[in-house]
Amino acid sequence: MQYIYEAEIAIAAAKQAASLCESVRHSLEFASVDKPDRSPVTIADFAAQAVICHQLKKAFPEDAIVAEESAALLYKSPAQLAKVTELVQALISDATPEQVTAWIDFGQGKVEERFWTLDPIDGTKGFLRGDQYAIAIALIESGEVKLGVMACPAFKEGCLFVGIRGQGTRRISLKTGESQTIRVSVGNCLAESVETSHGDLDRQRSIAQEIGITSRLPMDSQAKYGAIASGHAALYMRLPWVENPYYRENIWDHAAGAIIVEEAGGRVSDMNGDPLNFSIAAQLIENRGIVASNRAIHEAVLNAIIQTNK
Ligand code: AMP
Ligand code: MG
Repeated sequence: MQYIYEAEIAIAAAKQAASLCESVRHSLEFASVDKPDRSPVTIADFAAQAVICHQLKKAFPEDAIVAEESAALLYKSPAQLAKVTELVQALISDATPEQVTAWIDFGQGKVEERFWTLDPIDGTKGFLRGDQYAIAIALIESGEVKLGVMACPAFKEGCLFVGIRGQGTRRISLKTGESQTIRVSVGNCLAESVETSHGDLDRQRSIAQEIGITSRLPMDSQAKYGAIASGHAALYMRLPWVENPYYRENIWDHAAGAIIVEEAGGRVSDMNGDPLNFSIAAQLIENRGIVASNRAIHEAVLNAIIQTNK
């Protein structure tokens, strides 16, 4: 079986990152700084990226990693770097600040024939609010996602989704370790962002209604893909605002989730029905919007989108 070793390493790294993030979430020492684009980033984002990149590079030194964070802010803030290093040391006791920044910057790689992409904390706003967030790791070869590992510590009792190309999707309990194969289901629920600026929620809701999907599941992060893969939702749409025509989705926000839905029997495309193209850059520059579904309703959703284009 292909990608079993890759899955083993990514699962171990995601579990370590999840325990680190949960310890920060539950601690009183909850510090956040602002990135230049004003999105919140916590010391947990940096520490989780350091740990994951370190584990991936140790196992696969030849592979590039395209990750969300860079250590640039930490070079300017020794106090933050000290906190991040302390967090990493809970897992890797002899880690130094120099190693931690170097590990974070392993994630500054470029898209190649084979590479990893990762978001150490997807849905940072949800994480800060005490809601959903995801640690998302994906392996891409020849532009196709081959493996997706996504830890969702706040989803149900805490779970980890694993999708491997041609081998299905599993959900593993972070509490008990119990593992089960999951499949999409018919359902009647639309998964949507909590953040209203991340998509045209009104348009998404009217399209869902059009095809008979009447209930809603607001969730931060790629955990929405996990909700579809496990049958808790039938549809997730991310339609860009008309006023925001230049926004392009980041590959690390969708790669792991997409294979997790596809291998559970669902379908993922952009809003025009085209496959997501992970082979170009850190952004999905050829794609606009996202539609992920239980497959059965996909064409109806795409048709309804065309109707509302008029
Ligand atoms: P969600 O939790 O589904 O709302 O999505 C969180 C992700 O939204 C973050 O990882 C950001 O990369 C992404 N994001 C930030 N701004 C926008 C935007 N204007 N449109 C769509 N996605 C965005
Ligand atoms: Mg993200």
